[in-house]
Amino acid sequence: MGPGYIDVMPRLYFDANATTPPHPDAVDAVRRAMVEDWANPTSTHREGQRARFRLEEARRELAASLGVAPGELVFCASATEALHLLIRGLHGALGDRPAAVFPGEHSACLNPLRDWSRVSWLPEVPADCATVVQMAASNETGILYPMPSVLDAVRIKDGCQAWGKVPVDLSDCDAAVFSGHKVGGPRGAALLWMRPGLPWEAVMEGPQERRRRGGTEDLPAILGLAAAVRHLTERQAMNAALAPIRDAFETEITSWNRGIEVIGQGQPRLPNTSCVLFRGRNGEALHVALDLAGFAVSTGSACHSGAVKPSHAIMTLGYSSDDARSVLRFSMLPDARPGEVEALAAAIRRLT
Ligand code: PLP
Repeated sequence: MGPGYIDVMPRLYFDANATTPPHPDAVDAVRRAMVEDWANPTSTHREGQRARFRLEEARRELAASLGVAPGELVFCASATEALHLLIRGLHGALGDRPAAVFPGEHSACLNPLRDWSRVSWLPEVPADCATVVQMAASNETGILYPMPSVLDAVRIKDGCQAWGKVPVDLSDCDAAVFSGHKVGGPRGAALLWMRPGLPWEAVMEGPQERRRRGGTEDLPAILGLAAAVRHLTERQAMNAALAPIRDAFETEITSWNRGIEVIGQGQPRLPNTSCVLFRGRNGEALHVALDLAGFAVSTGSACHSGAVKPSHAIMTLGYSSDDARSVLRFSMLPDARPGEVEALAAAIRRLT
């Protein structure tokens, strides 16, 4: 907590899908890089060359972890930026052929698609479809989605929520994005992967990243991400082990017969996520009450300029806007313990 706050009670964090605390090795790598590797990787002097070497070393390591070639990775500052570069760059190259997108996609995908004159919602795919955009896992419900096989379309995978939680397959897509801060990396580093030969034009000009993304690379953040990704296999195994804890939580809260429903229950889902509908209750009020009780959780709504907007991702599953306002998302960090989740369930019981 920052200045002015006195923490009188322990806090429990159940908002891992929003962001994760950086892994201690990532913190060390960032700190070291800010002291030792602060030079500009584009500079040709010795300091710059050293920074360039470290940058390319991190690229090789991250590419190996994804099973792709280093030259296919573009470092970006966020997945939002990566998706904008990707989708806008495809639009530049593919003209005005239509796009198809998963309706529950993150706004980071939906916003750059506004440039396209024709966009249909998957599973509808127009005849001359140029690109399909599908998240591998929903940030809100945790539901896992397969990539639609559409001939002749560029298949874009938003791998942000799946990465480090479940295996991510890149053989069924042509481009993908990953966000560092969801896997114990720092903010400021994200990955854009593009299969060679994609019909794509750069939209952010500059000599960096082989002219694919202008702007000096944030080397400390990138080295921090590489350090976090060294623990990705272990992180995924820890996340997999959360499934029984999550299931016990869901069994408990639905056993009280208080109109509580788990969205996506029974479907393939991320092991750390429970998206819960508290029918007839104000999700925002419950969110605040849980916060005051020491639990950081997330609502299924986004606050835009003070107005609470119900989540489109929940409504596309057939729920009403009132239901969407009654949803809370609980997303566990990989090291969540059963006792912490039991404490969360007990607090929900007290407050509902
Ligand atoms: N895509 C999905 C599915 C996400 O959950 C997020 C972050 O919440 C993003 C994209 C955007 O990631 P970033 O915070 O790196 O811009």
